[in-house]
Amino acid sequence: MPLHCPRCNKNIDKAKVQEIDARLMNDFKNDALRRGRCPVCKTPLIDTDPKVKE
Ligand SMILES: [Zn+2]
Repeated sequence: MPLHCPRCNKNIDKAKVQEIDARLMNDFKNDALRRGRCPVCKTPLIDTDPKVKE
């Protein structure tokens, strides 16, 4: 399940978060993603994982 930015209306695949974060840090020194924020608008990302576990 992805992380969702309600402002950009964009999903970030959790499997790619580390890869994207590494690229952002390398290219832009952008640490937003590792803080749980959207790298574009800095809005806190929503974890869309369902909390219910039967
Ligand atoms: Zn955003």
